Amino acid sequence: MEFVRRLGSSAATLLGSRGCLLTFHRVATGSVWKTLPNRNFYIDLDFFDRLLTYLRRTGWQVVTIEEAIQRAGRNDPKDRYVNFSIDDCYRDSYELAVPLFRRHGVPITLFVTTGIPDGIVPMWWAGLEDAVLHRDEVIVDGRIIRVDTAAAKRKAYARIEREWDRTGPAASYARFCAENGIDADETHWRHAISWRMLDELRADPLVEIGAHGAMHSRISALPLNAAMSDLRACRERLMQKVGVSAHHFAFPYGRSGDCGKRDFALVREAGFSSAATTRKGIIRGPRDPFQLPRNTLNGAHRSLAAVELHLNGVTSVAAKVLGRV
Ligand SMILES: [Zn+2]
Repeated sequence: MEFVRRLGSSAATLLGSRGCLLTFHRVATGSVWKTLPNRNFYIDLDFFDRLLTYLRRTGWQVVTIEEAIQRAGRNDPKDRYVNFSIDDCYRDSYELAVPLFRRHGVPITLFVTTGIPDGIVPMWWAGLEDAVLHRDEVIVDGRIIRVDTAAAKRKAYARIEREWDRTGPAASYARFCAENGIDADETHWRHAISWRMLDELRADPLVEIGAHGAMHSRISALPLNAAMSDLRACRERLMQKVGVSAHHFAFPYGRSGDCGKRDFALVREAGFSSAATTRKGIIRGPRDPFQLPRNTLNGAHRSLAAVELHLNGVTSVAAKVLGRV
C-alpha cells in the first residue's frame, strides 16, 4: 500500500498532478453492498468513509467543481485537490452519501438528471435490480429464472441487462413489470431522489448542484435541436423546482463517443460554465472547462491503492495506452 502510494506520488510529480475529479452513482452500507445484484454500480459506504479519512491524512483537499476550476487556473504546483460527484442522483445520495460527506466536513457535487425527480426517466436498472434482489425467481419473456442465491442474482442481473441492451431497456422493463406484477411507479420512488430531498440539500453549503440532462440522453446521439432542448430543460427544471442556477454540467455516459466538439459548444450556449466527461485523466493546470476529465469509481474499487492510481493519473495513462477513453 505504502509502496503504491509512493509510486503514485512519484508518478504525480513527473506528470505534474494536481486535480482529480472522481464520479460515482450509488452507495450502500457494507452489509447491503454484498447482497446487491449490480453491486459494481455502488460504492461501499464503509470504504468511502476510509477513503475520505485517507485523503485528509495524505493532504488531498476535497473541493467543489467550481473550486476545482479556479484551482486549475491558479496552477499552484503544491496544490492537490479532489472533487467527488454523484451522477443521476438517487434516494441513497440523500440518505447516505451526503450525510457521509457532511460528517467529514467536505463538499460533494450532485449532477442531477431532472427526469428522475420528475418521475419521467424509466429507471429500469434500479427496478430490475430491486426485483432480482427481493425475489426467488423472476419471469423474463415467459421464462422463469431462479434468483435464490446472491451469485444467481448477480449472474441473472448481468444477463438480463445485456439482453435489454439489445432489445431496448425501457420497453423491456415495461414488459418485465407487467409479467412480474411490479408497480414501476412505486419502485421508482423507492430509488429516485425527489424534489423535496433536493430542496433540502440545496440549502446545505457542502452540496453543489449541477446538471446531468433532463432525460439522461446521450447528447452526441441527439439532433442539434433536441440536444439543446434537453440541456435547457434540465437547467430550467433545477431553477423552477429548487431555485438552483446550475453552472456545471456532466455529460450522461460521458465517454469519447458520447460527447464531442459540437456538444461542448452546446453546453456553453445553454448557459453552463463547465462540462465534465468520464474520460479518465487528471487536471494539471488551466484547461478547457467544457471537457473536464473525470474518473469513475465503482464497486470494484474497494482498495485505497486503486483510488491512488486514479488520483495520480496512472489509470488515465493506462486508458490512453489501451485506447479506452
Ligand atoms: Zn448518468
